[in-house]
Amino acid sequence: MKLIQYADILSASRSGGKLFTDEKYVLTPLAKEALKRHNVEILSGGSSMRKIIIAGNWKMNMANDEAILLSKAVAAGVGMGEVKDRIAVMCPPFTALSSVAAGISGIKGLYLGAQNIFYEDKGAYTGEISADMLLSCGCSFCIIGHSERRKYFGETDETVNKRVKKALEKSLTPIICVGETLEERESSRELRVVKKQIAGALSGLSKNDIMKVVIAYEPVWAIGTGKTASPEQAQSMHAYIREQLAAIADGDVSQSVSILYGGSMTPANVKGLLECADIDGGLIGGASLKAEDFLKLVHFDD
Ligand code: PEP
Repeated sequence: MKLIQYADILSASRSGGKLFTDEKYVLTPLAKEALKRHNVEILSGGSSMRKIIIAGNWKMNMANDEAILLSKAVAAGVGMGEVKDRIAVMCPPFTALSSVAAGISGIKGLYLGAQNIFYEDKGAYTGEISADMLLSCGCSFCIIGHSERRKYFGETDETVNKRVKKALEKSLTPIICVGETLEERESSRELRVVKKQIAGALSGLSKNDIMKVVIAYEPVWAIGTGKTASPEQAQSMHAYIREQLAAIADGDVSQSVSILYGGSMTPANVKGLLECADIDGGLIGGASLKAEDFLKLVHFDD
């Protein structure tokens, strides 16, 4: 029997509001109180654990004043109190995290994420941002290993792995990006590439930690190009990723991990993608920069 304590609830509330357990559990009285206060849900067993996650990656867009306007418009329309099967995440640039956090605090199901994290705690790392800094701005999520960081900033599977470990150590939920380039797909290497990225990102993690990650499959050829993967292409890769998770951890873990699709997702194609069995949400670039479009993605089934 697992004893769930106050600190477990607080940590779950900071990382998306879900607390996973595969054992029977009891709550301490303080934990029981915190569960209600922080709107945390305890989930156990199988695929029902997966929530839909609609995450916006704003990239290097939105100075503070624009970020405040966008986040307020999203907060006004998100209405997640009534939609209990999903959460929305906004990932503005570091400079706008605090102001966006202030505007969305208290809105159910709407969370703040960062676009990167450094794996050391503090020190002489000019220009880097630590996990504690992200937490102090109100972040619950953190994108790690986006293909743009791999391409332009030398991110490797090894540094992705270090960042994932640091995020988990600090109770931030990592959104780990994987995906093949056009050349890799055209030479039928997409499965091999994604398998290596998944194995690298999760290397040395316990099953319990793997349960807490979110994976985003983002074929590089679909990012910002207007060329979306077809639901069949995306579903087939998502099922493969789940197989890899089962091989690295086990079937229950693989069923509990949300796998998002990213790459030119728009209100026009979201439904077809999210109807696929293994697609649990989206990581969205361009369409997350307009509140109206992002809200259509969040409420894709209205
Ligand atoms: C992204 O950068 O994560 C992304 C999916 O971008 P877009 O939606 O613009 O293709």
